[in-house]
Amino acid sequence: MKNIVIFGAPGSGKGTQSALLVEKYGFKHISTGDVLRAEIKQGTELGKTAQSYIDNGKLIPDALMVDILASVYDGMCPCEGVIFDGFPRTVPQAEALKSMLAQRGTEVSAMLELDVPDEMLMERLVNRGKTSGRADDNAETIRKRLDVYNNQTAPLIEWYEKEGKRNAVKGYGEIEEINAALCAVIDNL
Ligand code: AMP
Repeated sequence: MKNIVIFGAPGSGKGTQSALLVEKYGFKHISTGDVLRAEIKQGTELGKTAQSYIDNGKLIPDALMVDILASVYDGMCPCEGVIFDGFPRTVPQAEALKSMLAQRGTEVSAMLELDVPDEMLMERLVNRGKTSGRADDNAETIRKRLDVYNNQTAPLIEWYEKEGKRNAVKGYGEIEEINAALCAVIDNL
């Protein structure tokens, strides 16, 4: 089975590209942001905890996030493949994912990184906010999320590079062109 980490800043197109990969390869999709938003909508305890972090553009604590991820994963797999979207976001999460998969006799097959310049991210997210209905797609929270990405998540680029799993792709231009670049990596695994 394939375990694909789709990686990039908020607004880099992870969700859009994940949907295309799911359609093409029949992989399962785990978006931790979607999981948390569903919990908020249902008014669960987890949702209540997650809400204040999300509204402030902050990350949910690693230990909680890792537990959530493991239970969603076990509910979906074994299967053909999984796309991890929005996880890992910190080095401890990446380490936890590595050991979680090792315990299940598998590993991350590839990290696919979508590279998009900062000013484009801001523009995309502000535009998305007009239709997404997401409370965290406003200019102030977006700025915080981009800071969190640069400080806590971007170090994973180096981490996956060292693991020999990093594949960077140009994340702007035509959606189909970006998708083709991602598929080329997956087809080569
Ligand atoms: P996303 O939909 O991936 O942009 O995630 C929206 C928000 O959910 C983030 O800004 C975080 O507050 C929270 N979140 C999603 N995934 C994670 C994660 N792996 N670790 C911590 N917080 C997360």
